[in-house]
Amino acid sequence: MLYKDYTQELIGFKDVTVTFVERKENYLHIHMMMNRKLHKCPRCGKDTNKIHDYRTQRIKDISSFGHYTLIHLRKRRYVCPYCNKRFYEETPFLPRYQRITSRLIGKILNSFRKVTSIKSLSNSANVSPTTATRIFDHIKYSIVTLPRVISMDEFRGNAGGEKFQCILTDPENKKVLDILPNRKSEDLYKYFSKFKDRHNVKYVVIDMSGPYRYLAKTVFPRAQIVADKYHVVRQVAWAFENVRKAEQKKFHEQRRKYFKRSRKLLLKRPDKLTPDEAFQVESMLRISERLRQAYVLKNEFYKVMDSKNSYEAKKNLARWNMLFYGYNLPEFYDCFRAFTNWKKEILNSFDVPYTNGYTEGINNKIKVIKRNAYGIRNFERFRNRILHVMA
Ligand SMILES: [Zn+2]
Repeated sequence: MLYKDYTQELIGFKDVTVTFVERKENYLHIHMMMNRKLHKCPRCGKDTNKIHDYRTQRIKDISSFGHYTLIHLRKRRYVCPYCNKRFYEETPFLPRYQRITSRLIGKILNSFRKVTSIKSLSNSANVSPTTATRIFDHIKYSIVTLPRVISMDEFRGNAGGEKFQCILTDPENKKVLDILPNRKSEDLYKYFSKFKDRHNVKYVVIDMSGPYRYLAKTVFPRAQIVADKYHVVRQVAWAFENVRKAEQKKFHEQRRKYFKRSRKLLLKRPDKLTPDEAFQVESMLRISERLRQAYVLKNEFYKVMDSKNSYEAKKNLARWNMLFYGYNLPEFYDCFRAFTNWKKEILNSFDVPYTNGYTEGINNKIKVIKRNAYGIRNFERFRNRILHVMA
């Protein structure tokens, strides 16, 4: 009696009787039956506990005590004395038609949240990769409502025959909203058009991409478009790098020694330099006027980015533009043009705290998922995996 109760406690199933437990190699075999009870006939609704026959079903369960677990369930088939219907008894721990317990399914789904390969997670659950994948395919994610703030970006996912996938996040509540199969405007337009609550979106954060801006204006007519700050700064850093490389090339071996660690030193903010570093920076700037101008332009732009609000930023950006006019730095022309073209959206970014920073972080995590969970070419599965890991 005691033995029976403890076993039931240990394996955690209710209303079962364990008849035999055996350990063989890697496996723990648990032979058990449900307790006999009245069942309602699924056809006529009358009660019966008349047994027609038995069948033993093998069911995989979560590992216990370091062993894979196999349940041998002696299943009863009841028969209804009124209408002669035959039916199997209820087994609450088994989902319909499954040879795997509900809790093992739960465990498998949970392991899909970790960034591991399907092979290793199916191995530890003692199911085949196909079974694990089939179980995972039951998971579906979808957004029902759009948040107040949306960040839109893209990443190289190489899924479903498309190089780039689009990612939507809610930077305010730090949530991944969705992954879209591509970044084509017409598909994005179709996607967003489905949402009835589009007018609730107040801000859309994007990088300086023309098609995204056009799309955002079309599908979110009431939203303010915000240029992603990091992206703006990056443009200046790139332009500066181009000047540095061009200037560095001009000098002979002899003088190139001045440019030791130049990239790191020149990209550092001047107020963060140690006296030694400041001296080295000064000696680099002394031999190239263009480098000095680019250095000034870059640092002045950091000051623009430090503006407290759009009003201050507008003044600072105008000053920066004047500075640019006075210099001969074609490398900065693209920046200048982008800043003119995106002025409104850039200035908006000074009045709200929203950037694509959160999204960029997620994109890095996606890279790790891709590296570890190889073989997700199917887009739906790829999307679900990302949303499942980030949920
Ligand atoms: Zn019946």
